[in-house]
Amino acid sequence: MNNAKIWLSSPHMGGTEQKYVQEAFETNWIAPLGPNVNGFEKDLENYLQEEVQIGALSSGTAAIHLGLILLGVKAGDEVICQSMTFSASANPIMYLGAIPVFVDSEADTWNLCPKALENAIIDRISKGKKPKVIIAVHLYGMPYKVQEINAIAVKYDIPVLEDSAEALGSHYKNQKCGTFGEIGVLSFNGNKIITTSGGGAIVTKNKETKDKAVFLSTQARDDAPHYQHSEVGYNYRMSNICAGIGRGQMEILDLHVELRREMHNFYTSYFEDIDGIAILTEPNQDYYSNHWLSAITIDPAKTNGKTTEGLRLAFEKANIESRPLWKPMHLQPIFSKYPYYGENIAEKLFENGLCLPSGSNLTDGERERIKLVVYDFFNKR
Ligand SMILES: *Cc1c(COP(=O)(O)O)cnc(C)c1O
Repeated sequence: MNNAKIWLSSPHMGGTEQKYVQEAFETNWIAPLGPNVNGFEKDLENYLQEEVQIGALSSGTAAIHLGLILLGVKAGDEVICQSMTFSASANPIMYLGAIPVFVDSEADTWNLCPKALENAIIDRISKGKKPKVIIAVHLYGMPYKVQEINAIAVKYDIPVLEDSAEALGSHYKNQKCGTFGEIGVLSFNGNKIITTSGGGAIVTKNKETKDKAVFLSTQARDDAPHYQHSEVGYNYRMSNICAGIGRGQMEILDLHVELRREMHNFYTSYFEDIDGIAILTEPNQDYYSNHWLSAITIDPAKTNGKTTEGLRLAFEKANIESRPLWKPMHLQPIFSKYPYYGENIAEKLFENGLCLPSGSNLTDGERERIKLVVYDFFNKR
């Protein structure tokens, strides 16, 4: 039996990517500008449908960094951040010398808890420091409670930086993720729903903000024949080669979302009759997840002591990658000294949660191997 490694999420090419890259070579646009960059930005703007302006960048992390700068975050400012996330959501706060304030998740979407968020804002304000920005994340492609979070953001007049790195193709009440924040962030890293080998984008509400992001991402050159600078600049623009891959990937984005959602259905059908397993699923019809990663929690009290770590090791033995959920930032050594608001929802999710292989390119044979491990582990055969 074929025992090749099954990855959590691996790049999945559609076929036309090389055509765009080839064009870049033929026209010698091997630079962080060119027709593919403009074309990729247009493709993304059309896909997101809302009135947005996109700047293609070298990574999602770069987009978060520039987003915080554009929202006025300076050294010493406080920035609220969903605790359960990838560290790339929080690291740019540190780049700026600002202070992260972490907030718990809720159990429905595993994202920012509106109640804990409001408590955090009220308490920080009472301490004389109103948070500058709220970083909210659509974890594993599942939209956060957009309506509740936005209502709080409006009530306290604090802009939302929407980390949609994992949620391209998801939507909430028929509006695409990436378009809800004052600034939105996308990622095209190798493991994401589409990839440019490495890359990201900033989603802005108007051309001035987009132009400012592009200006900062290309070393902040003033308009002069010589090199003239009045601001600190960055080298964060996407290259025309990477953008070519992105244009090809945009052609199969919807298909990849379909395939990821199929993987989620595959797991749902196999876990349905196993007690003590819960799979991350949309709370109601308002939510539509790209199911970038299918993720479960196991309640060992209901599974005769079988744990997520046990399942992870069983997968590993079969050469199948699975991974614990994101370890909350307030539990990370680098961030543990910063304020945290909430209870232990994120912590419990981390203790009992596991991400399963979810790639859009998994074969029937690979699904069969995954299924056998699950069934063996839970003595289902
Ligand atoms: C991947 C990811 C990022 C960072 O994107 P890069 O393109 O890898 O820099 C940020 N936030 C979240 C939640 C992510 O999953």
